[in-house]
Amino acid sequence: MKIYWQDDRLIVAEGDITRFEGDAIVNAANKSLQGGGGVDGAIHRAAGPELLEACRALRRTAWPDGLPVGEVAMTPGFRLPVAHVIHTVGPVFAKSEDRSSQLADCYRHALRLAEKHQFTRLAFPAISTGIYGYPAEAAANIVAAVMRDTLPAIPDLTVTLMFFSAADAEIFLNHAFDG
Ligand code: ADP
Repeated sequence: MKIYWQDDRLIVAEGDITRFEGDAIVNAANKSLQGGGGVDGAIHRAAGPELLEACRALRRTAWPDGLPVGEVAMTPGFRLPVAHVIHTVGPVFAKSEDRSSQLADCYRHALRLAEKHQFTRLAFPAISTGIYGYPAEAAANIVAAVMRDTLPAIPDLTVTLMFFSAADAEIFLNHAFDG
C-alpha cells in the first residue's frame, strides 16, 4: 500500500484492498451477494469459500431478495487480514439518471455501520467505478463530500480510500475537491 495523501483521518492510498489491515474492508458486491468480478472476486478469493457461505446465509435470512443498492450487510473476513467485510451494492452508472445519492448511500451506510461497531480502521474500494461504469471523476466528488460531512462525527474512525492504481488515486485527488 502506497499512501498518496492523508489528513487527520482520511487516507488516499494505492494498493490491493485484500491486504488491508484494520477492522474491516468494504466490498463492492452485487445484489446477489454471490461473488463476482473485480474487487468482489478478489475479496472472495482472498477470504476463502467461507465468505460465500456467509453471504448465502445472509441471502437466506436478512436479504432473500438480494441486497438493495446503497444498503450494507456485514460478514466475517475469514482468511482476510480484517475481521469483517461490509458488503454494499453500488449503482450501475446511467447517463439518463442521477444515481449519485445511491453511491453516497453506500459510503454513508458503511461508515454508520463502522461507527456502530466502534471500528477504528476501515478501507473502501472505488465503488461502482469498475464494471458498474461510474466515472471516477464524478465518484470522487461524491465520496469526498460524504467523508467531509460524515467523518467529523465519527472521531475514532480512520478511513482509507484504496485505489487499485496510481492513476485512479490521482484522479480522485484531482477531482475530490471540485466542489
Ligand atoms: P463495481 O462493479 O462496483 O464497479 P469493480 O470491482 O468492477 O466494482 O471495480 C471497483 C474498483 O475496484 C475499480 O476501480 C477497480 O479497479 C478496483 N479494484 C479491483 N480489484 C481491486 C483490489 N484487489 N483492491 C482494490 N481495488 C480493486
